[in-house]
Order: sequence, then C-alpha cells, then structure tokens
Amino acid sequence: MYNSFPTWIKKYGGIPPFDQILIADFKDEILASIVDFENEIEQIVGNKEEADFANTIEVFEKCGKRHQEVMAVFYVWSTSKSDGEFQKVEAELTPTLAAFADKIIQNQALFDRIAKVYDTRNLLNAEQKRLTTKHYDGFVFNGAALDETKKKELAKLNQSLATLYTQFSQLLMESENTYLTLDAHEVASLPPDMKAFTEDMAKARGLAGNIVSNTRSSIELVLTYCPLRSLREKAWRLFVERGDTDSHDTKPLCVEIIKLRSQRAALLGYKSHAHWRLSNKMAKTPETALELLYKVWPHAQKRVSEEVADMQEMVNGKQKPFHIEPWDYRYFAELVRKEKYDLDENDIKPYLVLDNMVKAMFWVANELFEVVFEKVNDVPTFHPTMSVYKMTQKGADGVKGLWYFDPYAREGKRSGAWMMSYQDQHKLDAGAIAIVSNNSNFIQSESATTLLSWDEAITLFHEFGHALHGLLSDVTYPKLSGTSVASDFVELPSQLYERWLLTPEVLNKFALHYETGHPIPQELLDKIIASSKFNSGFNTVEYMACALLDMHIHLAQKSIEDLRKFEQENLAKIGMPSQVTMRHRLPQFAHIFSDDGYSAGYYSYMWADVLSADAYRAFQETGNPFDKNTAAKLLEHVYSAGGKVDEAETYIAFRGQDAAVEALLEAKGFA
Ligand SMILES: [Zn+2]
Repeated sequence: MYNSFPTWIKKYGGIPPFDQILIADFKDEILASIVDFENEIEQIVGNKEEADFANTIEVFEKCGKRHQEVMAVFYVWSTSKSDGEFQKVEAELTPTLAAFADKIIQNQALFDRIAKVYDTRNLLNAEQKRLTTKHYDGFVFNGAALDETKKKELAKLNQSLATLYTQFSQLLMESENTYLTLDAHEVASLPPDMKAFTEDMAKARGLAGNIVSNTRSSIELVLTYCPLRSLREKAWRLFVERGDTDSHDTKPLCVEIIKLRSQRAALLGYKSHAHWRLSNKMAKTPETALELLYKVWPHAQKRVSEEVADMQEMVNGKQKPFHIEPWDYRYFAELVRKEKYDLDENDIKPYLVLDNMVKAMFWVANELFEVVFEKVNDVPTFHPTMSVYKMTQKGADGVKGLWYFDPYAREGKRSGAWMMSYQDQHKLDAGAIAIVSNNSNFIQSESATTLLSWDEAITLFHEFGHALHGLLSDVTYPKLSGTSVASDFVELPSQLYERWLLTPEVLNKFALHYETGHPIPQELLDKIIASSKFNSGFNTVEYMACALLDMHIHLAQKSIEDLRKFEQENLAKIGMPSQVTMRHRLPQFAHIFSDDGYSAGYYSYMWADVLSADAYRAFQETGNPFDKNTAAKLLEHVYSAGGKVDEAETYIAFRGQDAAVEALLEAKGFA
C-alpha cells in the first residue's frame, strides 16, 4: 500500500507539512485518500442499524480527513506554487476529483439514510437540525431525490452544459486574444508611459511597433488616459464586441445554455433557473433579489446623469464640442476627478507601510473581538517570505487559530488576493482549530519597506475579514464552519472589515509615513474620503445592468432566439443610460456562461454590499466604530456563527431587523 506522503506535523493539533512536499507524491496520495473516503462512506451505508444522526450525519462529517489534508496542500500548490510539473498532475487529477464529487451525490443509499434522519430532524438540537437540513438540501439541490429516469436526464443535461461552458470559455478566450495595431498618429497621441506600455505589449507577442491587447486592463488604460477620441472609440469597440463578432460568436452557445438550464430547472421542480439557484441563498427568491436591485437602480441612473453633466460641461468648453459617449466616460471622469479632488495616489503610498497595516488589522480585531495575534517561528511555510501568527482570545484557553500570510507576488502564484482555509474549526472528537491563510500579490520592494496603494490596503483588510470569519468560527460540525455560508452572505464579514481602515483611530495610529513616522495629514485623508464616492454612478450602473440582465435572462419563460435583441430590449426596458455599457455584455459574460457558479448570482455583490453597509451602521448609530456591545453581537451572530443558523435569521439576531438599503445608498453617496 502506498504510504509515503508526509503526515501533518503534531503541533497545534496538527499543521500542514509544507516543507516536506514532493509534487510527485500528490497523485498516489490523492487516489489513496479517495479510496479511504469511499470506504468510510461504505461503512455508513453498510450500517445495519437504522439511520440516525449519530451513525449517519455525524459519521459523514468525520469522513475524508485524509482527503481534506492532502487537498489542502494540493490547493496551495495549485494557487501559489504552480509549475509545469504540478500542472500536469493537476490536469490529470481534475476529472477524477470531479467524478468523485458526483459519485458522493449520486450515492442513493447514502442519500436514503440522510433523508431518514432529515424526516426526524425536529427531534435534534438546533445545530444538528441545521446540519442535517444542509446535507439533505445539498443532495436534493443536485437532483438526488429524482427518480432514475429523471436522474439520467439530469446527468445528460449537466454533461451537455459542461461541454457548452468549455466551448464558451475557449471561444471567448480566442476572441480576447486579439489586439489593435496603432498607426503613427495614434502612437504620437499617447502619454509617454503608455507609449512604452503599447511597445511592450507588441514585444510580448514578438511584434514590432505598438499594439493594445484586447484585455480589460489595457483597454481601460486607453479609455482613461488616451486624449485621441478616435483611438478610444476603436479600443472600446474591440472590447465590447468580444464574443460578438463573425469569427468569434458565442451567442448561439449562450442561447443553448439558457435553454438547457431552463429544462434542468423544470426537471428539478423549479419555475426557472433563477428560482433553482436562489433557493439555497440568503435572498431565497429572484423576486427578493430584484426588489433590492430596483431600489438602488434609479439612484445610480440619476447619479450617472449628474456625472455626465459634469463631463459635458468640460466638453462644451472645447473648440469642437460633442456628446459624451461610452468611450469618453473614463477619460473625462479622470479629468473631472483631478479637477475636483486634486488627489494623487503617490501622495498616499508613503503612509501605507505593509507591516503597519498588518498591525492595524490585528489592532482592530483586538478592539472588536478581544483576540491577540502573535508571530510564531515553529511552523513550516511554503515560501520563505511568509509568516505565521497564532491567535488567542481573551477568556479562552490555548491557541484558537493559526493565520498564515503570503504577501508577495511571484511566478507560479495566481493573481489577486484571497483567503484559504487549510483546516476548518470544529468540536467533534478532539476538535480542530481553524488554520487559514491570506494571500496577496504585493510587489516586494528592494528596500525592506513595502508600501501599499489605498486599494491594496482596503483589499488587505477585506481578505483579513474572510480570515477572521474562519478563525473566530465556533461551531460543532466541520460542514458548518467559518465561511460555509450562502454565497450572497459570505462577503459580509470581509466587506464590513474594510470599513475600519477608514476610522481615524486606525489611520492616526497606523498610517505613518515610512521615513518620518508622521501620521497621514488630515487634508489628505479628507481628499481620500471625499473622492471615495466619485464616479459611483458609472461603477454602479455598469455592474447593475449585468446583475439585472443576468436575473432577467434566467427568469425568461419564453425561449430566447436572438441574444443581441434580448440584450438591447432589456437594456431599453431598464432605462440604461446611453453613455455606459454593461461591464460584461451577454456574449462575454463569463461569470454566468463559463459555469453555473455566478449564474443568476451576479446580484450577490450588491446584496452583500447592503448587508455590510447596514451592519456598519449599527456601529455608527452608537457613535463609536468599536462599540463593545455591538462588536459582541457581531461576533456571536456573524463572525463566529459559521453556517449554524440561517443567514437571514442570524443577521436579524445581530441587527434586530433586516438590512436596510438606505445604508448602502448613503455609503455610495446616493442618499
Ligand atoms: Zn471577498
């Protein structure tokens, strides 16, 4: 039997052996762990005793420990240490892992036992009842309760959809692999750093001259900084037509996806794909999600008209005035921003030292939740620039969690910032502490001091909010732990945590100049705060148009023949301002067409926005952003509650009422 993969190190109840991993060992260990996992499930299913909570749900919760341990490390390599050797292993194992997940869901005998416990759930305590319901719902959500014929039909639909998702993604990617070639006149119009940038883009493709790649980051640079209007228009057209050209047309795929999704929803007993997807979210129904969106929409429309008026005034002063078009928005917004706020990103950076911002996050956590973070040196990491901290909590014995921090960009690490759980907190048997990480892509500076931009500091706080959601978890069962909540609720702890960065308490103490140690000047702070709401009409409208059309297309009862027509008609119906385009037009809307993940779910961002704005208001109402009483409730009902209570109920338990949209309107400057 294969047995050479390093086991977890016996410290803190078990920690990942990051310093002993060989990529060559992953495959055998994962396959062996799947066999173990299946045997454990077979034991549940083979139990002669009648199914009850202890012999079915609780045992199921304990299954697959070996699998979770190796997968925790595997995902670290996948996201943070990927190379050619690893990618080969990953590609080989991906179908096996997907098939294994399906196999569990399709295990009829296991589902029958879970269903039996579910039938008597009212005899259980609250957390057990919730856990049983979650397991049961999860199986049913994926079709476990259907008869054999329908199950086969469902499997066929799922397979067809999976193929369509891949075709969509590949075609869209091809469509994005295009570029604009600039002529001499266009090159001459560019600011010097952009000239160099377009040259680099050409070189990267082995070309001479200057090009603009058809990616969001490079197109947005042109749209924001290029004074030549005709070039902006060209770049804009190239970008918004991705997936909607004769050579790269994703529309037939989208139409087919929508059709199969609605067939699948009918098979599962739902009125529409949107009704199915939202049945296990906090919003629960598309109608509730739409109600929220339509409360915000008119305010965003109105703000766009004000923003356009500001820009139009600037244009009218020109020799040849014109009407603001979508390719003008970013460019003139930038001019207005400079004129109104006179804020330069480079003035802020010297005050945002990475080490100090980390101390600031810890300080906030201590003020709110009475936890202390202390650096430890006896825990192996997977990169020398990482650090590890143990978290203890006032009044509790021992270490409550471990937090790993991997701050810097490097080859083999995916872009962006994210939180990851290596081990979920629970109290079964000997229990387990939470072990989580935050991962970012800051550029490591030549000198020892890493300085952050304002957005980077916000993101740091955001991800630490997710980390605390894991670290503070206080539940009995692993499946209810930490971030195991509905996807329209999971951003609440993270978005909310961002707010404390903006408090004078934090900025005066921790936003200190890296050379002089002086706190950030009030005048600069005022500018940051004032400009934070700038252009919120544009940002909200380009996002919301997508959220609305995502919902409407997945609610449509008639089949959609012409995707472009559907888009135009629905944009007209919602009153889309002519100066703004959808952030993702339907033929390129990968969130909803490259898998099921965000389909009928793009609204979630705004849903969580409302929750976090309203939750912060609870502190504002006390006049103290660190009010102890409010913080204690927040800990009990949000940060430590995991998924053990229904999201809507737990929010009301914290706040005493539903979240009010007014808080968001105020936060966006719409009130
Ligand atoms: Zn997040």
